[in-house]
Amino acid sequence: MDLLNTLVDKGLRRELPTREEALAVLATSDDDLLEVVAAAGKVRRQWFGRRVKLNYLVNLKSGLCPEDCSYCSQRLGSKAGILKYTWLKPDEASKAAAAGVAGGAKRVCLVASGRGPTDRDVDRVSETIEAIKERHEGVEVCACLGLLSDGQADRLRSAGADAYNHNLNTSEGTYGDITTTHTYADRVETVQQAQAAGLSACSGLIAGMGESEADLVDVVFSLRELDPDSVPVNFLIPFEGTPLAKEWNLTPQRCLRILAMVRFVCPDVEVRLAGGREVHLRSLQPLALHLVNSIFLGDYLTSEGQAGQADLDMIADAGFEVEGAGTATLPAHRAQPGGGCGSHDGGCAPCGDAHGEAGEATASEASEEATASGVPAARTDLVAVRRRGAGTDLAPNA
Ligand code: SF4
Repeated sequence: MDLLNTLVDKGLRRELPTREEALAVLATSDDDLLEVVAAAGKVRRQWFGRRVKLNYLVNLKSGLCPEDCSYCSQRLGSKAGILKYTWLKPDEASKAAAAGVAGGAKRVCLVASGRGPTDRDVDRVSETIEAIKERHEGVEVCACLGLLSDGQADRLRSAGADAYNHNLNTSEGTYGDITTTHTYADRVETVQQAQAAGLSACSGLIAGMGESEADLVDVVFSLRELDPDSVPVNFLIPFEGTPLAKEWNLTPQRCLRILAMVRFVCPDVEVRLAGGREVHLRSLQPLALHLVNSIFLGDYLTSEGQAGQADLDMIADAGFEVEGAGTATLPAHRAQPGGGCGSHDGGCAPCGDAHGEAGEATASEASEEATASGVPAARTDLVAVRRRGAGTDLAPNA
């Protein structure tokens, strides 16, 4: 297929595809799916080999958020039956992080619900970062605390944070349909503050919220322009008790096309398969490893993932390897000033899960049959609220 040959050539040269090419990837048929995966897989292997970076989420503060992000189980007015608790103490967070590190995670993501941290919150998180770094030399720590105020990114960097996550989530044009309590521009500004402080920026999207294909391309092109080092791709987990509970729009095939499109647009960036992979990719998860070079190990913020050992087995069975702590994730050119993605002067990158992925345990009857209208059937049986790990007395899943 000419389209795929062109995109592979561009990906190997770190050249930006056109919007039309990105849209054409999303428009390919299921018959062409393996060709699309194989093509994007060539780009993935060029920059990341067969390595898979493991990341581990620790939810420092769960629920009770005053913001109204429609996708989020922790939002204002959410009726999702999630765990709700206030700040974990540094030793509790460090203990939770240890489970992920023992499972092979090289990055720990410290997430807290809320609009953004107070200066006291930044102090707490700084103590937690120090506790984790003391216990696990070499582990990367990413903070995800919402919108940052002046100076907070610098303070997190001084405390030892390596990265900051704040997702764009959806296109600028549709942002107001998803959230009204803050703006798309607020989110962009926080990512830029993190970058200015020398933190590695992590910013991604949530697919499956009812957006158009053009919206998906818009947000991925915006991410490339923003130039984060990592791009988490979340697939909406439609939690009961949230406004998007009925948005079951994704098939495993569509998820793979979206991941391939992200890989072509951000060829040399850490593309991370994030929340919703078990729910929406299901038995096709191993194919996604040909597109992404990073996943979350174990559970998400408010929902449960598959067993950590199942993640490790999947990686090995698919012929990939867990990236070791001593291996740089990004290609060498991205570590240089202006390294970027190739075709612009900078370079190229949640909270779909990361800052609030959402979900409610409502195991109800599920059908694997698509409905007559072509809309995928809801798989609420696959959505399980997290009941173990951080904030509970039960061992974490890692
Ligand atoms: S995504 Fe973050 S800011 Fe938005 S409602 Fe959820 S926890 Fe609050």
